[in-house]
Amino acid sequence: MELCTHNLGYPRIGPNRELKRALESYWKGDSTLEALLQTAAELRRQAWTRQKAAGIRWIPTGDFSLYDHVLDTAALVGAVPSRFGSVGEEVSVDQFFAMARGLLEREHEHGSRGIPPMEMTKWFDTNYHYIVPELKPAQTFRLSSRKPFTEFLEARQSGFPAKPVLLGPISFLRLSKMEGNEDAASLLPALLPVYQEILRKFDELGCEWIQIDEPALVLDLSPSFQHALTVAYSGLRSSAPRLKLLLATYFGPLRDNLETVFSLPVDAVHWDATRGGAELDSVLAAVPTGMILSLGIVDGRNVWRNNFSESLRSIEQALAVLGRDRLWIAPSCSLLHVPVSLEGEKRLDPEFRSWLAFAYEKLHEVVDLARLAVQDPASLSTLEENRRIQDARRRSGRVHDPAVARRVAAVGPLDLQRTSPYPTRKKAQRSRNPLPLLPTTTIGSFPQTPEVRKARARWRTGGLTTEQYDSFLEGEIRRVIALQEDVDLDVLVHGEFERNDMVEYFGEQLAGFAFTEGGWVQSYGSRCTKPPIIFGDVSRPKPMTVRWSQFAQSLTKKPVKGMLTGPITILQWSFVRDDQPRSVTARQIALAIRDEVADLEKAGLSVIQIDEPALREGLPLRRADWPDYLTWSVEAFRLSSSIAADGTAIHTHMCYSEFNDIIDAIAALDADVISIESSRSNMELLRAFAHFRYPNEIGPGVWDIHSPRIPSVEEIAERIRRALAVLPASALWVNPDCGLKTRNLAEVVPSLRHMVEAAKRVRKEL
Ligand code: GLN
Ligand code: ZN
Repeated sequence: MELCTHNLGYPRIGPNRELKRALESYWKGDSTLEALLQTAAELRRQAWTRQKAAGIRWIPTGDFSLYDHVLDTAALVGAVPSRFGSVGEEVSVDQFFAMARGLLEREHEHGSRGIPPMEMTKWFDTNYHYIVPELKPAQTFRLSSRKPFTEFLEARQSGFPAKPVLLGPISFLRLSKMEGNEDAASLLPALLPVYQEILRKFDELGCEWIQIDEPALVLDLSPSFQHALTVAYSGLRSSAPRLKLLLATYFGPLRDNLETVFSLPVDAVHWDATRGGAELDSVLAAVPTGMILSLGIVDGRNVWRNNFSESLRSIEQALAVLGRDRLWIAPSCSLLHVPVSLEGEKRLDPEFRSWLAFAYEKLHEVVDLARLAVQDPASLSTLEENRRIQDARRRSGRVHDPAVARRVAAVGPLDLQRTSPYPTRKKAQRSRNPLPLLPTTTIGSFPQTPEVRKARARWRTGGLTTEQYDSFLEGEIRRVIALQEDVDLDVLVHGEFERNDMVEYFGEQLAGFAFTEGGWVQSYGSRCTKPPIIFGDVSRPKPMTVRWSQFAQSLTKKPVKGMLTGPITILQWSFVRDDQPRSVTARQIALAIRDEVADLEKAGLSVIQIDEPALREGLPLRRADWPDYLTWSVEAFRLSSSIAADGTAIHTHMCYSEFNDIIDAIAALDADVISIESSRSNMELLRAFAHFRYPNEIGPGVWDIHSPRIPSVEEIAERIRRALAVLPASALWVNPDCGLKTRNLAEVVPSLRHMVEAAKRVRKEL
């Protein structure tokens, strides 16, 4: 008999993004709630059917969500902020969507800001975003949703071996935002009874196994949370003595939490062997007699086919200690973070395709491994085939480019450094481009109108020739340069009309990247991304952006900024190789961007911006791992930018608004100018820069482009004055928070005029 298998979670969005369409149609008012719920039920049934067909023993329920599983949990325990109204017996679907998306329509009716949604943030180090629960010190909780029970029964009644999944109380509290920054662990006594009630209900329903997700166990936990962990699990245990508890951890090694995790009164622990592999010995030593270990051996975070020989080594080691009855096989985490299936990919060539496994294929790998582990003779051929494919990939000429390897090896300290220090560079830059104090600029993109999108779609499907498409883009660039001159901005941009996406655009032109047709992954709610796959050594066969930047520069005497995406952002927003460290891939991308910087410079561009909005989100989950990451990521940025001559201004842009803890790394980038998002925090975050005595120039965003509101001149001027209170005028730029891609021209033109006028007004006061 093969080892027992289970799955932790399956993609919700559907093989063809059916959920996205159903949600958006319901939100627009084009379809009914019944239609939405019907689609959702069909998608669940499909997912269960697929998992069962793959041979998975225990199939997750409750992992489905109409928006987000953390928001589901907030609704489940009745943590609904008062601005969304009071909760009846259950949180209604519309209340649930209001929490996720806010109530915008009121904005137009009442001219007020409407009801703002709850905040959203990254789910651990994935590119999925969850809704942050809002809690307050005297928070009360109450069971306010039947969703977990309904979905469990729905599956069981249809004959699926259902294992409900809950986000555990420790992770729920740890991921929440607590009013006044108080310790959310203090809410456990209030929260625990609701979880106990849930477990009791499942027990009464005759449920056998329940999976309780505690990914927070791979984070640094404060003593109060460590204590809460022990209290929580003894409380859960006692509430439902018959129910079998499977505690799931994933996304990293357990480190200092390892001993505690295995001492909790649960029946099984799921552990991520792909990220925590080095801990296998300690884990096997810590599993108490009688406890089952679920080995998360198939990587749920990446798209590569599992290496069976390697996996079997760990499985055999675990088997020797635990025996067949106490070892389960599973993916490392929920399969939410990978595309649904390879079946829809018709254009990938067979060799490359054989290296991949998406969610559905990963389930087959789990089952194959569970059979191979017990030397099931019928499965031996799958091992042979797997070996052959792994060998082919390892030796493939498409993966390894000796020229790239030589170049990476030859990088020396001088390649990571500009010619002169910043003060010398600034002089050279200003004598090349004289600028007023408080120079004005934008972050790069201008509105991607329906016409722009339509033109690109037509070009891609052959409706427009490349010549026609190019001349369309030139027309857009002409218009946007004229607009910027008319508005009187100081440093202009070409508008990024040729780009669908700031990573995909570069990936499509770099060697070593592949693209899927339908490899969509949920980003948040109904939004999905289709990340590129970096499979081989990266290089840049030819210039990627020079044509457009050079054309834009030819239209004006003012400096035009060349626009590039930085190596860390390209890395972070792609699926990456698993056969070399991320730091090496980052270096390869950096060298490709470096080539582009050199070519832009040769083409006469005197200002070049390298965007790194993802630098911060790449921070490892544990503090102890930050220095290493920051070292290689800062080096990658410097490698990409340092080729620029003193007189070429290197700008960078970052969207986020928390800099305090990484400000020295930001300074170490040594960009001449950094633009950041700051209008929403009312310039508060500038303090980090002021406090640190940030040496180079900064462009704090003075216009919140996330809102359709047109800011007044005086409002912007006031923000500039606030910035001037903490930083010298010689260091300040004036710009919006981020790119203008998602706004429309009717908002952009007056806002830009107000921004330039505000800069002029404040200049006079200096
Ligand atoms: N240059 C990009 C733009 O303007 C930057 C986008 C980003 O930071 N996310 O769209
Ligand atoms: Zn931005």
